[in-house]
This record gives sequence, C-alpha cells and structure tokens, in this order.
Amino acid sequence: MITAKTDSPTRAQISSPEDALLKRARAIHERVITLDTHIDFAPANLVGEQNYTQRLDTQFNLPNMIDGGLDGLFFVVYVGQTRETQSPEALKAPGFERAYKLALEKFDAVHRFTREIAPDKIELALDAADVRRINAQGKKIALIGVENGYPLGEEIAYVKEFYDRGARYLSLTHNGHNQLADSHTGERDGWKWNGVSPLGKQTITEMNRLGIMVDVSHASKDSMMQTAALSKAPIIASHSGVRARCDVSRNMDDEQLLALKQTGGVFQAVAYGGFVKTTKPDSPERSAARAAARREFDLPDPKSPGQHARFQAALNQLSDDQRAEYRRKRVEIDKQYPGDPPATVKDFVDHIDYAVKLIDIDHVGISSDFDGGGGVIGWNDASETFNVTLELVRRGYIEAQIEKLWGGNLLRVMEEVQRIAGDLQK
Ligand SMILES: [Zn+2]
Repeated sequence: MITAKTDSPTRAQISSPEDALLKRARAIHERVITLDTHIDFAPANLVGEQNYTQRLDTQFNLPNMIDGGLDGLFFVVYVGQTRETQSPEALKAPGFERAYKLALEKFDAVHRFTREIAPDKIELALDAADVRRINAQGKKIALIGVENGYPLGEEIAYVKEFYDRGARYLSLTHNGHNQLADSHTGERDGWKWNGVSPLGKQTITEMNRLGIMVDVSHASKDSMMQTAALSKAPIIASHSGVRARCDVSRNMDDEQLLALKQTGGVFQAVAYGGFVKTTKPDSPERSAARAAARREFDLPDPKSPGQHARFQAALNQLSDDQRAEYRRKRVEIDKQYPGDPPATVKDFVDHIDYAVKLIDIDHVGISSDFDGGGGVIGWNDASETFNVTLELVRRGYIEAQIEKLWGGNLLRVMEEVQRIAGDLQK
C-alpha cells in the first residue's frame, strides 16, 4: 500500500554516509568472532586481588574486552630469553629449570582465572569447536599460546606437557637465540645455529604430532624458512609485521610471507607501533625536553629496553595532580617540538592490506601484542578493538573477508593442525 508522505524527514532520519558506514561496521563487528592472537600478562593480573575482572590500568582486561567487542584472545605464556652472554648457565639445566617454572606459573594463572576467578565470563578453549561453542554461549574465549620454546629445555616430553596444559601455539624463540633456533636478533648479534637446531627440528616434529601450531614470530629468517619447509602442518606468525612496510628484523619479508602461505598458514599482523611504522628519531631539543620532564617526576625512559612497564608503574605511583601536571608538560612539549607521529590504525591496516594483496585474504589475521609493547593510535587497548573493523569496512572489506581476518583463518589453521596431528598419531 502506498501512502502519501507529506512530512519531510527530520534531521535525525537522514543518515549521512558516515553514519551508514558506522552502522554497517558495528553490525559486522557484532556478528564475527574477533580473536586477538597475542596478549601478554603478568600472573598477578589474573590471580591477584586486583585482577582482569576489573578495569586495571592495563591495555587488556575484561571490561576493556567487553567495551571493544573483542570475543577471544590467546593469553601468552611468555618467558624472556636469558642469553648466554648474560649467564653462562642460560642454556644449561639451571637456566632451563628457571624458565620452566616461570612458564608453569603462567599456565596456572590462566587456568585459575578461567576456572575460579571468572568462570561465568570467560572459558578456556582447546580447539576451534570450543571457540565457537563458548562464543555461542555469550562468554569470552581464552586460548593459550607459548612465546619462546626456551622453557622446554632439552626435555622433548615437555612439549606434550605444555599441550596438556592447553598450549595451542608455541614460538621456537623470543629475542635471543636458544637451544631450539636462532632469533631475529641475530641480524644484529650474529648466528648460533644458522636456523633451527637439531633439537628444534625434533620439537617441530613433536608439535606436529600433538597438534600445536608452530609460531615463527621472533624467529630469524633462516629459522622461519626452515620451519616452513620442515613442518608437516600449516605454521603461523602469531604477531609480526610486513617488512616491506616497516624494515625491522621482527617483521617478515615477501619471501617469508609467501613461504608461510605455502604451508597453508596464517600471518597475524601485529599492531605494535615500532613494527608498524619506522618513526624518525626525536630531535635533540625534543629528547632533552622530554627527559627533563621525566626527571622532574622521577620517571624512567619508557623507550629503553624493558622499561615500558616500569614507566607505567612509576606513572601510576604519582598523585593525580602530579600526573596531570606531567601530562600538561608533555602536551606543551609536543606543541613546541613536534615528533614524528606514532603509528595509527590506518598504518596498521596498511600492513593487513599489503599482506592480503601478496598472500591472499585466507592467510592473514590480526593481533595486538597488548601489555607486551603493542598498541597504535586508535587501537591502543582492547576497548578500541572496533576501530580495526571500522577501518577495514572503510577500505571496502566485506563481512566474509573480515570474518576471516578476525579469526576465521586462524580457526581453520587450528583445525587443520589438529587433523594432521590425528593422522600422524595413527
Ligand atoms: Zn613478542
């Protein structure tokens, strides 16, 4: 039935193209499963009195996750690499033992968090079917990845132990070579194995047999290429950038991306500012002004290695007035001595675009590295997760593609890795 409309629409009824785009992006973000494959944590933030059920001063926590419409994450059991130059026992029993204990503490924290502290809000998933079931139940999804094979020591049996504790991916290395493989840091420091060690090769075989995804983030190019050739199952890069867009050793060049694709795997682009965009160094005037402001408030330099967390903690120790005063000074410095702007969501999505063009939509995914140094302007904590989807929609990605990027591809790889493990165990 046609009715004559005499009223002209009110302002609210006219939606601008931008409103329509926002609405479409929100609906897509709501419908697809959004998985972030790399989030770091301190065990205390999972099992302490102050924990992730509250809005802590961390990039990731459950309230931020809910606000940002992030459905699932890999909690990363990360153990830093003690180098042989730091301790002669780094790659001997005492070093391995120490690392192993740290890893167990992190596994235990994830289990306690999901089983005892927030079982009504989040649940541990062990396979892709779990991910879909937990999501359908309206709960958040926790998975476990291991960053650095160092804590495995020389005990191949620990690979199974980590699998039994829930690990579904494991990277051979972190920063610095270990008993399994060379790290990307060899570009600066030189090589130990020229790729994967004999023990590392056995470890890959064992991961294939059990159904743990082999993660090549942090590995050297030789380690990565050898892993791609050796692995009987698809491999992943849980959090890496595109080297053609930002030339740092942590990122992957085109040859590596194509080799990863060959395995059927997935490259999870990382929103880590320093791997997204190479920023020009600060001018001497800007550096001096910033250092003076920090000195005034007794703050360490967040850009020195390993100091980011200490800087955050020291900032939190200040009174509200002091913190406001420090921030006011920072704004003033930015005005007087502008720095090269840091990486944004747009810069980050440029990496996704590049990878999609090179290795196809089926082999690319998304990761933040929150609370491990990750974050870009616009996606600087889990509450801003929607901005990534919005930027993808803005660039013309359709829902089926966004679904793949946000976890569909990763789940496909997880299923494939588990299927191959089943075959290998027969
Ligand atoms: Zn990392």
